[in-house]
Amino acid sequence: MRKVSIFGATGSVGQNTVDLIARDPDSYDVVALTGGANIALLAQDAKRLNADIAITAYDSRLEELRAALAGTGIEAAAGQAALIEAGARPVNWVMSAIVGAAGLAPGLEALKQGATLALANKETLVCAGKLVLDTARKHNARLLPVDSEHSAIFQALVGEDMAAVERIIITASGGAFRDWPLDALEHASLAEASSHPNWDMGQRITIDSASMFNKALEVIETREFFGVDPSQIEVIIHPESMVHSLVGFRDGALMAHLGAPDMRHAIGYALHWPDRRDLPVARLDLAQLGQLNFKAPEDARYPALRLAYDVMDRGGLSGAVFNAAKERALDAFIAERIGFLDMARVVEQVLDRFEANPGLIDAQMTLDNVTQTDHLARQWADEAMAQRAGR
Ligand code: NAD
Ligand code: MG
Repeated sequence: MRKVSIFGATGSVGQNTVDLIARDPDSYDVVALTGGANIALLAQDAKRLNADIAITAYDSRLEELRAALAGTGIEAAAGQAALIEAGARPVNWVMSAIVGAAGLAPGLEALKQGATLALANKETLVCAGKLVLDTARKHNARLLPVDSEHSAIFQALVGEDMAAVERIIITASGGAFRDWPLDALEHASLAEASSHPNWDMGQRITIDSASMFNKALEVIETREFFGVDPSQIEVIIHPESMVHSLVGFRDGALMAHLGAPDMRHAIGYALHWPDRRDLPVARLDLAQLGQLNFKAPEDARYPALRLAYDVMDRGGLSGAVFNAAKERALDAFIAERIGFLDMARVVEQVLDRFEANPGLIDAQMTLDNVTQTDHLARQWADEAMAQRAGR
């Protein structure tokens, strides 16, 4: 039996992972499940999968979790330290599906004990790519992509030599506003940004899809994961979300990965890798589909994309700055304190302020430095937003 843990089990990717594991209970020994505020769901899944321990991110919810697990023999814990401790419990495979920079520290712990880390949490590589890859190498741990684009690229590269890769083309649905008139974006509402045309995902990544901050993170994730040069990474809008990404080789061949937009494919691939097993995902009917469409993303609609290339050029800790400022701006948009396009403006302002302080950006990439940079970027994002509100 394989020992597995699921970080962020109560979220969208986490629930899809729970679904796959619950279909084959005899194959898995579930160690830790982590979640946030949805204690009922966390406790329910811990019981369903017979986990050793369930952990909520919130200290204040510990009693509730304990009560929900009373008499089951399943341990309950809460808080940041407990999440990191969960990462240190020996397992073979961990799903990293916490949202945001909070996923970094538990994921690093899992790598340190040599576990295979199935990475949905793209922020891990954006904030601390070098640190994460060095940690994996040092502890002989493996990283497997779960983001659908990166899973697609990874699959297109099976048996290939990276030296033969000319370019990587990442597809993007274009999000909720791909067809909106540009001048309407300034006033796009929270509800409008929170519905995705093709994928059913958590609220934060759904809004990040509308702004393409999600794609911006994925471009950086691609650079870190596959070690290609930023100039080799392209983004193309593909409204149907059937082609999940493509790899172009030096002989002109393009390998595309197609499938229904269902995260259980990428999760299942990472769970069973290097094997392929039956997965409960819909099969594409190409004749019924008829056609697939592609178009170049407009710079004015998606300023986040340009910022991603600036971040890759800058290097150092700028990925951590970018992500933290983005998370803060997204918090403010969700609280309806700033407008949709203000998110990119705030992030750019914070990046510029760090650019003026190269000593900060070029500090060594340790977890402490990443964490401190993350905190400072959030503070500077708050200051930038306070300035905007005062204007
Ligand atoms: P979600 O919001 O649905 O779930 C997030 C999970 O993280 C929940 O279990 C939540 O309780 C937990 N969490 C939230 N804040 C936390 C904190 N501060 N500390 C600890 N735990 C916390 O998110 P999601 O859509 O499942 O996305 C998870 C990750 O996977 C993100 O990094 C996202 O970019 C990535 N991803 C998601 C999808 C998708 O289809 N949803 C696809 C590709 C990649
Ligand atoms: Mg993706």
